[in-house]
Amino acid sequence: MDGRAAIAVNSGTAGLHLGLLASGVVPGDEVIVPSFTFAATANSVALTGATPVFADIDIDTFTLDPKSVAAVITDRTVGIMPVHLYGHPARVPELLEIAKKHDLKLFEDAAQAHGATIDGAPVGSFGTFAMFSLYPTKNMTSGEGGIITTADPGVERKARLLRNQGQEIVYQNELVGFNARMTEIHAAIGREQLKKVLAWTETRQRNAAFFDTNLEGVVVPKVAKGSTHVYHQYTILVGEDRDGFQQALRDDYNIGSGVYYPVPNHRLPSFQRPEDLPVTEQAAKSVLSIPVHPSLTQEDLDRIVKAVNTLAKAGA
Ligand SMILES: *Cc1c(COP(=O)(O)O)cnc(C)c1O
Repeated sequence: MDGRAAIAVNSGTAGLHLGLLASGVVPGDEVIVPSFTFAATANSVALTGATPVFADIDIDTFTLDPKSVAAVITDRTVGIMPVHLYGHPARVPELLEIAKKHDLKLFEDAAQAHGATIDGAPVGSFGTFAMFSLYPTKNMTSGEGGIITTADPGVERKARLLRNQGQEIVYQNELVGFNARMTEIHAAIGREQLKKVLAWTETRQRNAAFFDTNLEGVVVPKVAKGSTHVYHQYTILVGEDRDGFQQALRDDYNIGSGVYYPVPNHRLPSFQRPEDLPVTEQAAKSVLSIPVHPSLTQEDLDRIVKAVNTLAKAGA
């Protein structure tokens, strides 16, 4: 990735945590994150002792809304960490502009977005560091694991030290670190998956294109101009009764679907924050992710389209 270092660690969460520490995030700092994401995004900020500050998203990309980000910047803000949610790139050019103006760093949570691009450049190539997750549900896996990418030699060295008890030379520990190493066994799985992820992604994109053309009565995912989507999830918006829709998909058509994520982070018992994030709330109530994975057959795709369209029509 344009000559960036890639550092293997034992989970995506460890990748975020070490990346933030290596980038100099310390207690008292604030890092702006979306609330509409997996809890690991904000958890990793909190684990450094810094405060995650939640900003709203836009309903088209489900990623950080630059206007909302700008509104929560304080003199303690040191960074912005967008999530390339569902495999769609966050609005990086606008966020970088804000970061530049306020002298902030950009960190990328690319856990779900292996191979997604903005104007031809891959996600993971924009931030001070980025993290890709290799958890089994992601577009590629090592069984459990993560990768940190960075172009900054200082961040790279510190992340490598933090991964291994703070030692480069054995028993000459330079700082207090973790055991966050990826095992050889996990790496062997990851290296094989790496050969396949491109083809799998193309199949995801073909499945998504079929849904885009054939689904009716629901809002299909949008792709921003200049971006490529790698469809970790194919997430539709369902009008009135999302939970009823999901249950009918399961009970009447035997089709599993997912809600990512039903409770925004700022309202989790672990954070309980007072922020008012209306678009985040709206998304949490309306999103539904239908199967898009590369092992679906044409028969599966036809069955999913028929079920969704029938339920959407019945609800209309
Ligand atoms: C999966 C995920 C993580 C955490 O990755 P793990 O490998 O499970 O630790 C962080 N952020 C997002 C958005 C994720 O989807």
